[in-house]
Amino acid sequence: MSELSTQISTGADLLLAEVAIAAPLRQLFDYRVEPDQAARLRPGMRVRVPFGRRDVVGIAVSAPREAHPGAFNYRPIRELLDDAPLLDEALMQLCAWVADYYHHPLGEVLAAAVPTGLRAGATTERADHQLLRLTDAGSTALPGLPVRSASLRTVLTAIAASPLSPQQARALAPTAAAALRRALQQGWAETFVGTSSSMSTSTGELLQAAAPATTEQAAALADLLPRLGRYSTTLLEGVTGSGKTEVYLQLTAAVIARGQQVLVLTPEIGLTPQLAERYVQRFGRRVASYHSGLSDRDRSRNWLRARAGEIDVVIGTRSAVFAPLPRLGLIVIDEEHDVSYKQQEGLRYSARDVALVRAQRLDLPVLLGSATPALESLQNVVAGRYAHLRLERRVRNTAPPQIDIIDVRTQPLTHGLSAPLLDAVARHLDGGGQALLFLNRRGYAPALVCQGCGWVAPCPHCDARMTLHRRRQRLLCHHCGLTAPVPSTCPDCGATALTPTGQGTERIEDALRLRFPAKRIERFDSDRLARAGEIETLSREAQAGAIDILVGTQVLAKGHDFGGLSLAGVVDADGALYGSDFRALERMGQLLTQVAGRVGRAGQPGQVLLQTAHPEHPLLRLLVESGYPKFCEALLAERRTHGLPPFSHLALLRAQAPEERVALEFLQRARAALPTVDGVQVLGPAPASMQRRAGVYRAQLLLRSPSRAALHRVLQGWIVQAEPVNAAQGVRWSVDVDPADLF
Ligand code: ADP
Ligand code: ZN
Ligand code: ZN
Repeated sequence: MSELSTQISTGADLLLAEVAIAAPLRQLFDYRVEPDQAARLRPGMRVRVPFGRRDVVGIAVSAPREAHPGAFNYRPIRELLDDAPLLDEALMQLCAWVADYYHHPLGEVLAAAVPTGLRAGATTERADHQLLRLTDAGSTALPGLPVRSASLRTVLTAIAASPLSPQQARALAPTAAAALRRALQQGWAETFVGTSSSMSTSTGELLQAAAPATTEQAAALADLLPRLGRYSTTLLEGVTGSGKTEVYLQLTAAVIARGQQVLVLTPEIGLTPQLAERYVQRFGRRVASYHSGLSDRDRSRNWLRARAGEIDVVIGTRSAVFAPLPRLGLIVIDEEHDVSYKQQEGLRYSARDVALVRAQRLDLPVLLGSATPALESLQNVVAGRYAHLRLERRVRNTAPPQIDIIDVRTQPLTHGLSAPLLDAVARHLDGGGQALLFLNRRGYAPALVCQGCGWVAPCPHCDARMTLHRRRQRLLCHHCGLTAPVPSTCPDCGATALTPTGQGTERIEDALRLRFPAKRIERFDSDRLARAGEIETLSREAQAGAIDILVGTQVLAKGHDFGGLSLAGVVDADGALYGSDFRALERMGQLLTQVAGRVGRAGQPGQVLLQTAHPEHPLLRLLVESGYPKFCEALLAERRTHGLPPFSHLALLRAQAPEERVALEFLQRARAALPTVDGVQVLGPAPASMQRRAGVYRAQLLLRSPSRAALHRVLQGWIVQAEPVNAAQGVRWSVDVDPADLF
């Protein structure tokens, strides 16, 4: 402050501040700071500024400074939107690191870090809420309530502990809404107006007591607890059901007891509601979630509550890695191997990697949990950078399932299902078990083929086939979203014999209905579970044993604990065996292991059957016979031989254009213009593996180096001079640092 006032009093006539604006330009913009703004403006505050012909909201990234002599013509900051920085210094620095590392405009990084409503300029002042509190009559009535009025008790007890909004109270129990109406009618509860900060937090009470830790959990906690307060990364590896979540919960309780906050990242909240639910059961209203399923208003509200320190735990997806947490003490990353942590468009950041950087800068521990860790993480363990803890046994003491391979080359298939697989389903259902059939392809069939001439229904905009969706009676392109009517005759030869070829989940469902007409069969995929909450309802029914056969895509492989499954069948284990991407096998191993992890009941081992046309494939055999850790050792050895991550670092320069030639020429020029840096290898340009998608041609240039720093020098050197020339020929380009795949 004093510095600023000196500047002003020494008579500087023009003050400027740098502002980051969410625009695809890698630069900051200088704006004139009005005299009355100078003393208030600090980095991290939102400002309204003219940009082109509009006014936009940007974020100041520098304090006001004197313009060099002769500077003129700067446009003014119209308005300061905040009294205090919206993003504190540590978050501003984290965003600057992200912009630098991923070679992405800072304005867009900051925009990703702030919820939509606030980005658009919404006020940070939180409106007064209606809150509920217990009346004297309520305190008198509470002890005498009959046992069966469970919801009423829950509501009254909760508002006795601290005032709640009606919305929060209604969320306490399934019939809490009715209980609340009754409490208000009886005069046991009343509303008053206050701000949410009047809601007390950190009362320290656990809503649901922690289970006594198992021996393995106790050992893990004994290792983790002394790590609080300092940076370290620990990989907690344990099969599904081995009690990882319980370790997160108990460690979280210890962090809260130190007066600190916890950030929990989860891949997709819709697919893993159980994690958030268990946190809420344990820590109640001190937990807030942050993900795209929330309304803009709720997202902003939870973000502001976290920033105000009113909540102790934020559970969220990728973008929650930027959640403002002034007392952050621990970051937990569940299912750390999951690809959804990597954003695949725009700002292509990895939330896992950003979380690690955030933890390092703030000097606090990170806990990575997974049944199937990423090869990168396993290699970091080998290199001594991560500590490694294992939970070897399932809490409910289930034996690991028996895994067997079915060679589909020697079997007649009915809609893709072999007799041994169908017989096993029958056997398990007869024995009172439940079965799961996994196929990572939705729709009825991935191709519609003419028997007359071999025509296959293509997507007119992509190098891809249309998938037949029978329920909808449409052809659908899974790459660009185009839908089309199902033709009744072949457009090439006029034949009427158009045959669905190959299997999707709809077809498997139909085939099972024919074979098991009396059984309840449910499909779990994004077509069937389009509406929020459906997956939860169906999972609960599955858990309660009400569903006999579950058919589904990766929706089934994630997070859920289905309890009574005794058989898992993998309809097609081959997709990835000869796939073009270097991570395909790793993903396959993770998926198969995750599917297998869903199976087995107390005391009774489950069974897993894999259908494959390559039963001799050495890595598939290794996975089946020796398990995921040995499989990963072999994959790591291969990656080392080929100089692939984690033994090198990659960056992709991607280009798209209306014509293939234009995209390739752009990359050829880029290649020629790349600064030469020792140890950086440039491969390509080459067309992307799906060359044409949604009507545009895609090509890429791959950079590889054992040194991240070298890779970055090359990218940086190129971007600076490439920026002004690119848009000309309709080329769109982007940089993907640490790409998740090379498509
Ligand atoms: P993971 O996260 O590894 O899948 P969970 O923590 O969800 O494992 O534990 C699996 C199941 O065992 C859950 O139903 C959980 O409630 C239960 N559980 C975990 N730890 C304990 C414990 N120490 N005592 C009793 N039950 C436990
Ligand atoms: Zn034809
Ligand atoms: Zn398409």
